[in-house]
This record gives sequence, C-alpha cells and structure tokens, in this order.
Amino acid sequence: MTATQGRLQGKNAIITGAGGGIGLETSILFAREGANVLMADVSDAALAKALAKVKEVVPSAPRLESIKCDVSKESDVQAMVESQDSWGGTDVIFNNAGIMHANDADAIDTPEKIWDLTHNINVKGVWFGSKHAVMSLRRHKKARGSIINTASVVALVGAATPQLAYTASKGAVLAMTRELAIVHAREGFRFNALCPAPLNTPLLQDWLGEDKEKRFRREVHFPTGRFGEAIEQAHAVVFLASDESSFVNGTDFVVDGGMTKAYVTPE
Ligand code: NAD
Repeated sequence: MTATQGRLQGKNAIITGAGGGIGLETSILFAREGANVLMADVSDAALAKALAKVKEVVPSAPRLESIKCDVSKESDVQAMVESQDSWGGTDVIFNNAGIMHANDADAIDTPEKIWDLTHNINVKGVWFGSKHAVMSLRRHKKARGSIINTASVVALVGAATPQLAYTASKGAVLAMTRELAIVHAREGFRFNALCPAPLNTPLLQDWLGEDKEKRFRREVHFPTGRFGEAIEQAHAVVFLASDESSFVNGTDFVVDGGMTKAYVTPE
C-alpha cells in the first residue's frame, strides 16, 4: 500500500505509546491516510526512532511531530493535548500506551508497587487522555471526535498465565471506555476499546524471550496458530478513528484471530 487514501484527511490525531509496536504501525497508517499525527511516548529513544521510521515510509505525511509524554502524569497529558490547539484541536486520540511488568504475577506474588505502577499508566493514563481529549473537543467546538483506548482480550477472558495487575487494569479500561461512550454520545464523541490478543511486539515478545514452553502455552490458544501482528491492530484503529465507524460506539473491538471464541487443544 503506497498511495494516500485519505480516510483520515484533515483530522488531528494523537497516538500514545507511539514508540512501540501498535503505536508505530498506527502512526504509519494514520499518516498514510492523511491525518496530522502527534506521536507521543515516554521514551525519547523509542520516539525518535519511530518518528524517523514514519518519516521514511510516509514522506508525504501532512503533519508529523512528536512529543515526550508520560501518560501517568496529568500535566504531561494536558501539555500534549493542548499542543494541538495550534493545529486546530484534537479530533482523534488513541490512548494506547501501556505496560505489562515482568514482576506482575498472581494474587500472592504481585508486588503492590507493580500494581500501582501498572494502574497509573494503563488506567490513569487512559483517563487523563480521555479527559483532555473531551476538553479539547469542547474547546474547539467539534461536532465529532473519536477516542480509542487500548484494552486487551484479558479484559474479556481469564488468562491462566497470571498477570493480575495488567488484567485488572485492562478490565478497568474496558469499563471506563464503555461509560465514557454513553456519557458523551450526544456530543458526537465516540469512545471504543481495542482488545488485541497476544502479539508479535516487544511488550510480549521480550517477556517471552526464548522460553519455548511459555510461548507454547499462549500460541496453542490461537485458531490461526500464530500471534497477531501490530499492523492488524492498526488497521482496526484506522477504522475506529475514521468517520466510516460513525455509528460504532462503546464497543469492545476485538482483534484476536478468533482466539476468544475458540476451543482449541494441542495437536
Ligand atoms: P510496546 O511495549 O511495543 O509499546 C508500548 C509503548 O508505550 C512503548 O514505546 C513505551 O515506551 C510506551 N510507554 C510505556 N509507558 C508509558 C508511559 N507511562 N507514557 C507514555 N508511553 C509509555 O507495546 P504494544 O504491544 O505496542 O502495546 C500497546 C498497547 O497494546 C498496550 O496498552 C498493551 O497493553 C496493549 N496490548 C498489547 C498486546 C501484545 O501482545 N503486545 C496484547 C493486548 C494488548
């Protein structure tokens, strides 16, 4: 795919966690579809690399900038969203930044500080992003806006491989997104939650490493027999961000290769 198709033409978009797997792929597709994109991440290094990549593959990107932002700090999120005031205000925010900490475990072994860290980023980060997006949409008197929040399939089905803080945080994202969708529907602001299955991105793959047993415990659940790719999430986000999804609101938008509908046993 090379030509700009313009499905997001004229929209000002923010993507958090833009230095990572899903965020980077979404930044590329958004820019390709004609959006003005503000890429945000807590990691300067990841952000610089990702920005260079988007510039390289979408040289025709209408407007492409980056900003350092720790989504767990409201002042950072506010500054990020307000920096788009001079662009004409935010139309789309993809609250995608999230962590799954290596020390996240079951009810007994999850340290409280890991619980708090996870919830500060995964839950409060989404709240702050949603809050400041709504304030911006109102400030700029927008008739429509799209907010997409990254949850996970673990918000829908229990994982036998425990990561309790992460799972609880994604359940919160799902519930919060649903309520926001209802509260703001009459303003024309849509909220949808993206629910990815395990993917080939650093978030999971770094954690799995070369551990074949750990990997197999997860792969076996996929009817497709493979993990998802970040770009497969990004395509769904383009749809949710665009006006093509104008009557899609409050959904748990599941992109999982059928995993949550499956009963699969090892061969
Ligand atoms: P990733 O680790 O590749 O990228 C995440 C990015 O978020 C990184 O660039 C990181 O620097 C950034 N980040 C971390 N903390 C931040 C903070 N406080 N403020 C701003 N940015 C921060 O992860 P990914 O796989 O692209 O995941 C993106 C989202 O998708 C996350 O919310 C994750 O929980 C969710 N998700 C991922 C999977 C998977 O298997 N990869 C599955 C389901 C859901």
